[in-house]
Amino acid sequence: MNEVKRPKKPLIFYYGIVMLALLLFNFLAMPWLMQRQVQNVDYGTFLDMAENKELGRVEVQQQENQIVFTNKDNTVIYKTGMMPNDQNLTQALKDSGASFEGEIIEQTNPIVSFVVSWVLPIVLFIAIGEYMSKKMMQRAGGPNAMMFGKSNAKIYVKSSEGIKFSDVAGEDEAKENLREIVDYLHNPNKYREIGASMPKGILLVGPPGTGKTMLAKAAAGESNVPFFSMSGSEFVEMFVGMGASKVRDLFKQAKEKAPCIVFIDEIDAIGQKRDGRLGGNDEREQTLNQLLTEMDGFEENTGVIILAATNRPESLDPALTRPGRFDRRIPVELPDLKGREEILKVHAKKVKVDEKVDFSKIARMASGASGAELANIINEAALRAVRDGRRFVTQSDLEESIEVVIAGYQKKNAILTDEEKKIVAYHEIGHALVAAKQTNSAPVQKITIVPRTSGALGYTMQVEEGNHYLMSQEELENKIATLTGGRAAEELIFHSASTGASNDIEQATKLARAMITRYGMSKDFDMVALETVQNQYLGGDASLACSEQTQTEIDKQVVALVKKQHEKAMKILEDNRSKLDELANHLYEKETISGEEFMSILNG
Ligand code: ADP
Repeated sequence: MNEVKRPKKPLIFYYGIVMLALLLFNFLAMPWLMQRQVQNVDYGTFLDMAENKELGRVEVQQQENQIVFTNKDNTVIYKTGMMPNDQNLTQALKDSGASFEGEIIEQTNPIVSFVVSWVLPIVLFIAIGEYMSKKMMQRAGGPNAMMFGKSNAKIYVKSSEGIKFSDVAGEDEAKENLREIVDYLHNPNKYREIGASMPKGILLVGPPGTGKTMLAKAAAGESNVPFFSMSGSEFVEMFVGMGASKVRDLFKQAKEKAPCIVFIDEIDAIGQKRDGRLGGNDEREQTLNQLLTEMDGFEENTGVIILAATNRPESLDPALTRPGRFDRRIPVELPDLKGREEILKVHAKKVKVDEKVDFSKIARMASGASGAELANIINEAALRAVRDGRRFVTQSDLEESIEVVIAGYQKKNAILTDEEKKIVAYHEIGHALVAAKQTNSAPVQKITIVPRTSGALGYTMQVEEGNHYLMSQEELENKIATLTGGRAAEELIFHSASTGASNDIEQATKLARAMITRYGMSKDFDMVALETVQNQYLGGDASLACSEQTQTEIDKQVVALVKKQHEKAMKILEDNRSKLDELANHLYEKETISGEEFMSILNG
């Protein structure tokens, strides 16, 4: 869609005009003013006036060969050419009693020149300052905010090359939901006749990069209506009242352009709960109030649909989500396996890709990636192909770029000592072996001990064969065992611990804690929630909600759980010691081995 920018005149524009006016005045009007003051006379007149003692002040300008003089009252300035070497001139001047003091007779009236060079610019600047501040005041408040206080919403007008639903891969449920809106915008009468009314506001909720903005644009593209887009943070400005005025203007414009779609991205920037805390953000609250008022104010079925996106739905003010406002909520989740494959294919259309590329394998490798990350993976792969002088993207480009997106670039000059390399090889094989030996764990896809810029010295990529929506207690325990497998291998072979396991420890602890405090997988606590999750789409931080004694008990259970799995991992490795050695040596030699290679050695 084409974005239409509203012409906006910055302050500098007005000051520029003033400067231009001053310059023109100085160059054109000033000389004219000056000339008017001076009367040209002939030399004879000058001599006559001298004789009749009618001269006031006289200045002989030898270089220009002229005399500038005034009459007795200094009211008129005269100029005359001079006779060279006129011996009588000095005497005549002396006799006339004219004064010579003041070397220059100012050819302009001193008052005029003062006004022009000092007073006028100051007056002009003050006037423009006044004008601007008056406009600011108007912008800041009052229902008659006239032209100012404009929302700086980007307006996209309908155009044939707008984004369509077909450009958004996966997210079928969200698309289904939005199709109804599109249908309504096409044919509102169908809904009106039966008395059904569309929700005024629709909230798109999901983690970052899952295509919320894209879906909103696609809805506008499909319904072929204007699309106003604005980010929540753009409303909140330095001056209190500005945001409210912007909301008003946005809705005014939207109503004029109806039917249309208004999209507010990151609505949590203005829609956060008003909790009456001291030092709250007045501007934000006023903006929110105005938004609520506007949403109530317009009639249903006016053809204005408001879409908003957020990844922190729990922080929104309940007033915003009540019926009549943003009452429909469309979840836009991370794509599943099929969704990932489709997204990859959509983005692969924009680059030249080898025909043999297996997108479903790439999609399986990139488990947990968002749409934006998948788009990034394709782009990284294309960049890699260019770097290596290829004319199209190959499977290996894509696989490598997944690793780049997950783990960072290969560190070219990181040199591990032999001992370190061996430890890393055993550590990674430890993970993989424990994962493979537990029946429910997903097989490994790839193991590598090439250091990455993210700091990882090596990693094991596990592959999920299908989608997992539920995880059993056993699966979670196995996962913890797999995480401890790396450290277990180090202990078994080198009888010491290294710092390489810090990330594993963090993840294992998080899982174990969640099992006990949130999933009710501890007998002692039954089905009691001991933790609440705050930002489920942004990292999912949890905060404890229990007494101190319970906390102590939780900690004990977490330790016991991890310990048990650690022992289990140790046992698996001990039982398969010869395979562990063989695999670790193989990895040490080759630095990267594939899942198939791993399995064939394990089963061989
Ligand atoms: P959000 O608003 O949810 O943070 P965006 O809509 O801005 O995410 O998506 C960012 C980018 O990710 C898009 O420009 C697009 O390239 C890609 N993307 C995300 N989801 C999808 C999808 N379902 N299909 C195709 N591309 C997607």
